[in-house]
Amino acid sequence: MSRSVSILGVTGSVGQSTIQVIEELRGQGRELPVEAVTAASRIDVLVDACRRLRPKFAAIANSQLLSTAREALAGLGVEVGAGPSALNEAGARPADWVMSAIVGAAGLEPTMAAVRRGAHVALANKECLVCAGPLFIEAAKAHGATLLPVDSEHNAIFQVLTHPERVERLTLTASGGPFRTWTIEQMAAATPAQACAHPMWSMGRKISVDSATLMNKGLELIEASYLFGFPSNSIDVIVHPQSTIHSLVHYVDGSVLAQLGTPDMRIPIAYALTWPDRAPVSTARLDLAKLAQLTFEAPDVQRFPALRLARAALDRGAATTTALSAANEIAVEAFLDGRIRFLDISSTVEAALSHLDGAEAGLLAKMPSSFDEVRAVDQAARRAARLIAGNPAAA
Ligand code: NAD
Ligand code: MG
Repeated sequence: MSRSVSILGVTGSVGQSTIQVIEELRGQGRELPVEAVTAASRIDVLVDACRRLRPKFAAIANSQLLSTAREALAGLGVEVGAGPSALNEAGARPADWVMSAIVGAAGLEPTMAAVRRGAHVALANKECLVCAGPLFIEAAKAHGATLLPVDSEHNAIFQVLTHPERVERLTLTASGGPFRTWTIEQMAAATPAQACAHPMWSMGRKISVDSATLMNKGLELIEASYLFGFPSNSIDVIVHPQSTIHSLVHYVDGSVLAQLGTPDMRIPIAYALTWPDRAPVSTARLDLAKLAQLTFEAPDVQRFPALRLARAALDRGAATTTALSAANEIAVEAFLDGRIRFLDISSTVEAALSHLDGAEAGLLAKMPSSFDEVRAVDQAARRAARLIAGNPAAA
């Protein structure tokens, strides 16, 4: 297999795991030339990535860092660009396979640049799909892009979706996050460090906080609905603290297919990179005797209202899922900056959605018909959330 690749978000948790997979596959004699990589601002990590991958092009989001990045990358034979146009160029350059691993709606434009040229797009970033919803899926179809889900639950479903037209239900599994057994009172005092200490997965800070509120599972519910084309009432969520079963597909004959494995993102990344083949990857092997038991429990929507908000947004329509994801990005940032408390994250999102319904009636009712309309909803939701999170200056 020879496949040229680009990595959007190479300095993040998924980006770094992708480098490891590429190095391991190269060690097996596979040719995986790297076209482009992107980073927000961590130059030292970008330099390390460029040393290991030898990409042709590196884009840094922060334009002020252009000359620093150029200096740091001198001698590596890498062309360097900065700012939004450079990020888009990274997606647009002719790689066969593009890892979309920028966090948040910031990943949308560069990912769309890859979608528009019909690339194989490995989708770790869930916010760009939740943000642009049906338009994103339509664009992928129209341009002949292949979407390869990397989010572990969606990758699991993708692996066992043998008969899409014979599916009865999907079940997404959730680890329950670090506060699964905490009381509301304990959660009220939770710190960013506690919220980011995930029991099963090591991830970026935004998705870690989303896992603690269960908004991550809410976003994944929306992601699954758009990706696989199932309505919200045919997708269940179950808490499974061992994170061994990554999701399940229930068929009309009563058969249930699931994908299992140790919680390691290199497994779905390698699957997406080698699809439709597979390759040996040195991840820890599943030892069921050692695990001894797999347990399950219903999610508690009283303590984790984000899940209820996300399902309601999905039922309401694409503009509301755009607004939910944007408001959540602002609320999580406010929590990580110490401006709001943990339980305020979900209430900020809920209040931002009702504010939009009141102040900009009609905005959420209409299905966005262009990416410009999506952006308008996204920006309005960010403004509303900033007002509610007590940072109106930034609104
Ligand atoms: P991370 O915070 O570790 O990394 C994010 C990456 O995005 C970094 O490379 C950063 O430089 C870049 N970035 C951040 N803001 C940017 C901006 N404004 N413009 C351009 N680049 C920017 O995040 P992560 O944990 O690697 O997650 C990445 C995405 O994958 C998220 O959407 C997350 O939901 C999804 N995901 C992650 C995991 C995981 O295990 N980490 C699992 C499933 C899905
Ligand atoms: Mg996931």
